[in-house]
Amino acid sequence: MSETYDGRAFINGARTPAIGQLTFDCISPVDGRLLTQVARCTEADIDAAVAAARAAFEDKRWCGMPPAARKRVMIKFADQLLIHAEELALMETLDMGKPIKYSKAVDVNSAANCIRWYGEAVDKIYDEIAPTASTALALITREPMGVVGVIVPWNYPMIMAAWKIAPALAAGNSVVLKPSEKSPLTALRLAELAIEAGIPPGVFNVVPGYGPEAGSPLALHMDVDCIGFTGSTRVGKQIHVMAGQSNLKRAWTELGGKSPNIVFADCPDLDKAVEAAVGSIFFNQGESCNAPSRLFVEASIQEQFLEKAVALAPKFAPANPLNPDTIMGAIVDKTQMDTVLRYVESGKSQGASLLYGGEQALSETGGCYVQPTIFAGVKPEMKICCEEIFGPVLSVMGFTDAAEVVRQANASMYGLQAAVWTRDINRAHGIARALRAGTVHVNQYDEDDITVPFGGYKQSGVGRDKSLHAFDKYTETKTTWIRIDSPV
Ligand code: NAD
Repeated sequence: MSETYDGRAFINGARTPAIGQLTFDCISPVDGRLLTQVARCTEADIDAAVAAARAAFEDKRWCGMPPAARKRVMIKFADQLLIHAEELALMETLDMGKPIKYSKAVDVNSAANCIRWYGEAVDKIYDEIAPTASTALALITREPMGVVGVIVPWNYPMIMAAWKIAPALAAGNSVVLKPSEKSPLTALRLAELAIEAGIPPGVFNVVPGYGPEAGSPLALHMDVDCIGFTGSTRVGKQIHVMAGQSNLKRAWTELGGKSPNIVFADCPDLDKAVEAAVGSIFFNQGESCNAPSRLFVEASIQEQFLEKAVALAPKFAPANPLNPDTIMGAIVDKTQMDTVLRYVESGKSQGASLLYGGEQALSETGGCYVQPTIFAGVKPEMKICCEEIFGPVLSVMGFTDAAEVVRQANASMYGLQAAVWTRDINRAHGIARALRAGTVHVNQYDEDDITVPFGGYKQSGVGRDKSLHAFDKYTETKTTWIRIDSPV
């Protein structure tokens, strides 16, 4: 299979170099190889992409199509991803380091499913008529916003893009997508596949580049009506400021997490709880916003739990992600690997006990790999407990009191996800209600479906991706009053 990739931007239906002719290196974290040169878009490119998106919206080449016709094109778009699954999966793995096993089974499939689901939904949603007096008719209709800017991170490049572009496009908007500079390749390919599926030129544009050079001009743009952002809380806050500084575009943010996972001694299946705790923090090299990175284990089972967790950890030893058996691949780049290793050092120096891992691995490959890492004896004030590491590092704490563990679980600026393991149904419901998180898992951590909202409380963001609720982010609500002078 060809590994020569086209890194040019995609504007108005065609590949195009950055107007300033600048590029940046796209390096694979698998082995340090140069994959391609990628267009380094700046304000002029963003202006061109937004102008193309605006023209497409104004002449109604997409939003004017009947919903059933848009549906058919969206479904074809989803099919295109599946037809090109091998190619997209390889590209994703080479670009960001995740195991090929998951690039295809998880990333390509989820992105395709998401695009299909929103396509299928769009001709099944009705508008409303308000229950007003009979002298008038009040229609409540949903209309596309216009031009939607989308900025996404590198951890699930295709899925994060799909969660936003699918509802935005299905609702009739035009989109300008800025992928992460660390993983831009699949987004660019998606734009080509969209055109092949019948999405008209100008409706879906992709502008790779660095955050301050390409992301900021998009967030500040006066002709962008809405910005959908997934990334860090630090940048997410800037996105809301930029929206306010410019045209008060609608701003929706899916941000960081430091999710607590609480295991009581009466959990229904200790082995399953251990597998979920370990498997979920090490999945995707720990580069998941919802990874359960703070683990609270009831003191009476802590020793047994940790023994089992440490015994499982070697299964996640990092290996070449192109090997179909690999379940832990490479960290996205050297900068992120160094960040993870710095957190490991801080855990050690602040007095946590390192039970497993903590070292860089496979350095001879030229790639970026970190061992799965488990710390016990973690204290709430330690950096590895408070800050999002975004790497394969599990911080374990013991507890004896239910009220106190809930207080500690909630003592975080984040509120993305949480979990509780117990056989006691009252305790499960009570704690699920008390946890301040957008999603709470009970006796499992891996359920996920496009039908349910995904997003955070507190500084984990504003708004929800996935489910029909996502349409709220990319549509305006219009009220139309019609006077009725009844002749009878
Ligand atoms: P990041 O915030 O550094 O970057 C995200 C995107 O924003 C990138 O495309 C980047 O180029 C762009 N960006 C950076 N600076 C910008 C600026 N000044 N103006 C405009 N755009 C800018 O995040 P990351 O390192 O790519 O991703 C990791 C973060 O994403 C983690 O915090 C993780 O929790 C979060 N995340 C959240 C979710 C969720 O659904 N809540 C999902 C995945 C990842």
